[in-house]
Amino acid sequence: MKTIKEKDSFVCSYCRYPQSCEIIPVVSLSDTPELKEKIMDGTFFDQVCENCGKAETVLHDLAYIDEENKLCLIMRLDEEEEAGEEEEVYLDLGYTVRTVRSYEQLVEKIMIRDYQMDDRLVELMKAASYMILKQAHKIDADEIFFSVDDDGPYFVFFQKGGKQGGGRLPFMKGMYEDMEERFAKKADIFFKSETEIDFAWAAEFFQKTYGSKS
Ligand SMILES: [Zn+2]
Repeated sequence: MKTIKEKDSFVCSYCRYPQSCEIIPVVSLSDTPELKEKIMDGTFFDQVCENCGKAETVLHDLAYIDEENKLCLIMRLDEEEEAGEEEEVYLDLGYTVRTVRSYEQLVEKIMIRDYQMDDRLVELMKAASYMILKQAHKIDADEIFFSVDDDGPYFVFFQKGGKQGGGRLPFMKGMYEDMEERFAKKADIFFKSETEIDFAWAAEFFQKTYGSKS
């Protein structure tokens, strides 16, 4: 697989100047390994306006192909657009294929992979954490993300409606191992070729397993 560059266009959000630009819709890590770091720090999506010189983030759909780890992440920003041919091609090649809907999800999936974890189990942990926050702490979490810093992995959550008071949750390794033991095989059976592994997926998984959403 080769990294692919394409001509595109954007309108500067500062001075409204329309212009053409170059984007990279397909990143092959075996071809351009240096792009991974730029994706992780966000500079990959930067465009500099040729009129006013300001830089801004211009997101676009992306196929991220990590040949060494047989991981394929397809970022489709349009929620209406379902997983399609690209996903199929890599599933057939034996890749782990994921469809993601935001830049944050893309980065999260890469971090989970770097940590040698199964993202399905991480999503189940996030769903469990969501319920704990709600029931034990009366906190309505909007989104929960897996993240990693020098001290290791953790979860970060944001409250619904932009309310203050998001925070961090510890990543409990014991819980992960427990999930692995109980659910890894089931996840294979229930959702063999499912590529959208997110909160809705985890909720459906628990429903299929326990017959209710909680
Ligand atoms: Zn400009």
